[in-house]
Amino acid sequence: MKKALVCGAGGFIGSHMVKRLKKEGFWVRGVDLKYPQFSPTQADDFVIGDLRDPALCRHVVDMKFDEVYQFAADMGGAGYVFTGENDADIMHNSALINLNMLEACYRRNIKRIFYSSSACIYPKYNQEDPANPNCAEESAYPAFPDSEYGWEKLFSERLYLAFHRNYGMEVRIARYHNIFGPEGSWNDGREKAPAAICRKVAMAEDGGEIEIWGDGQQTRSFLYIDECLEGTLRLMRSDWTGPVNIGSEEMVTIDQLAYLVMEIAGKKIRVRHIPGPQGVRGRCSDNRLIKKKLGWSPSYPLKEGLKKTYAWIEEQVKKLNLQEKREDKSNETQEN
Ligand code: NAD
Repeated sequence: MKKALVCGAGGFIGSHMVKRLKKEGFWVRGVDLKYPQFSPTQADDFVIGDLRDPALCRHVVDMKFDEVYQFAADMGGAGYVFTGENDADIMHNSALINLNMLEACYRRNIKRIFYSSSACIYPKYNQEDPANPNCAEESAYPAFPDSEYGWEKLFSERLYLAFHRNYGMEVRIARYHNIFGPEGSWNDGREKAPAAICRKVAMAEDGGEIEIWGDGQQTRSFLYIDECLEGTLRLMRSDWTGPVNIGSEEMVTIDQLAYLVMEIAGKKIRVRHIPGPQGVRGRCSDNRLIKKKLGWSPSYPLKEGLKKTYAWIEEQVKKLNLQEKREDKSNETQEN
């Protein structure tokens, strides 16, 4: 039986990856600071621990794994990454995790390790025109990411590539572009635009109003989780290191994203633009390299992914409302 280790298995992408690897018949060990929030893990073994600790990394890499996936990072959406308030933690925590994991895998002679980098490594100066962002892989240098999160990702990409060059480790590096789907952060301050907009629309009355950070004209592309997993596995099992974009080429403005969600919800809602952290003006995946190297690129329409995500978030909102009503009722009974 093949064995896989998933670091960050309590998070959004990691918990979905565990499910996918189990479907493929792997024995899976997950590691994270926490269990997945929204459904029980399907991992055969789940270690709760801190990957900033080198001893913990050595402990979880105590046998030969066929595939190691490194998703653990201190991260979140614009409200977490672009305010500047979390920069020291983001850089320090994520760099330590990557340094420790590579060292532990090298000691165990683990050959194949996947690293989840990000579109946030691309230079700010190529993403100022919302209609024409440049995110071709080779445009990463001269480097000028717009966040410390992006700088740490770039440093870690180089770290993985150095272990590949010097120690012959088969590393695989993907630059993810805004992955979304059910069972991701939606109301804890780390949520990204699709989940945040789905939540706001689900909570708003028909005819009501929602707030959007910025002028709504900033552009992005969003990739549904199943496509992210598919691309990751294809890259992992290919004979090519990357780094490569794993993202969608279906670029939309944030306002268009909001109107798409309203259409799915069957609600007419006004949008009010307010100041807030936004990141670069434009960003979209460039899939020429992945098509050339892997003969595959994502094709699932944004709207289909949003339908599934909206349905899940609407359910979470209903559960939360029900819980609040129950708490109000029990408070009333206690007061009486
Ligand atoms: P996530 O925050 O849901 O998952 C990350 C997990 O890492 C969390 O469960 C967290 O508890 C865990 N973690 C953090 N510090 C840890 C530590 N010290 N020890 C053990 N576990 C720790 O994020 P995600 O959306 O699943 O992203 C997974 C990876 O993909 C991350 O590296 C992220 O930077 C990268 N990425 C994600 C996106 C996206 O749109 N989701 C885009 C680009 C890159």
